[in-house]
Amino acid sequence: MNHPPTEKITVGAVDVWALLDMIPPPYTTGDFFPSVPPDAWRPYRREVLDQDGKLQLYYGCFAIRSQGKLILVDTGMGPGPHPDRGNVCGHLTGRMKREGLAPEDVDFVVHTHLHPDHVGWNVTAQGEPTFPKARYLAPREDWEHFNRPEIRGEAPQVDRCVRPLEGLGVLDLVDGESAITGEVMAVPTPGHTPGHQNILINSQGRKGVVVGDLIQSLVQVMEPEWYSRADVDPHVAMASRLAMMKRIEGEGMVMAAGHFPTGAHFGRILRAEGRRYWQVERP
Ligand SMILES: [Zn+2]
Repeated sequence: MNHPPTEKITVGAVDVWALLDMIPPPYTTGDFFPSVPPDAWRPYRREVLDQDGKLQLYYGCFAIRSQGKLILVDTGMGPGPHPDRGNVCGHLTGRMKREGLAPEDVDFVVHTHLHPDHVGWNVTAQGEPTFPKARYLAPREDWEHFNRPEIRGEAPQVDRCVRPLEGLGVLDLVDGESAITGEVMAVPTPGHTPGHQNILINSQGRKGVVVGDLIQSLVQVMEPEWYSRADVDPHVAMASRLAMMKRIEGEGMVMAAGHFPTGAHFGRILRAEGRRYWQVERP
């Protein structure tokens, strides 16, 4: 994989890196947003879709350095190759190394949710924690959801990448608002999954948020009422998205979106002529 350039910003005293794990094969719009009629894409074709009219997602994670602690938000799809993603391999730890971040430097791994493209690098092939000194923080409601007998069979990533952490004694289930440092806090944003959470940063009067899959595609900045096939409860997800976008705009937050394109993982939601748009944040 050609390595993309470093994407790093600061939010007050907090450093935030975007770390691309992999680029999966593109999705058709009908597959990813089945409830959106093809014509509704017309205004966004050039801005959001590729030359074949498909939707390219990126699987990105973030590292946050705050008050001497290193926090990794999500762990991508894992090393792979991934037969269900075109046999593409993940590169998270390689990306970290290029930024001078070693697995043993990580104090906390925080999961926005427990879907397969967010937990993949948790444990090694030998069943050891990839981040040997880290506590792993996962939303309790996701843990309970993915352990339900009727869901568990469809979510092998939990048995493969999350359950081993419990046996290793490094898994902490979190509820509600949970402070990670004095500047970084996880807050519930349910709907995409029952326990889905965002990571808020508040430092020296500056604010930021890692949105996880609350916003999965750039098009949702312009069309926040569009929901994807992956949303467990689309209407709850939409309400969470609208509420967080209101905060992002109202509080002037910089937003970090792992599924956005390389070079556009960080940005702000601005308005012109009554329409929202995405302004990429430069370091
Ligand atoms: Zn995702």
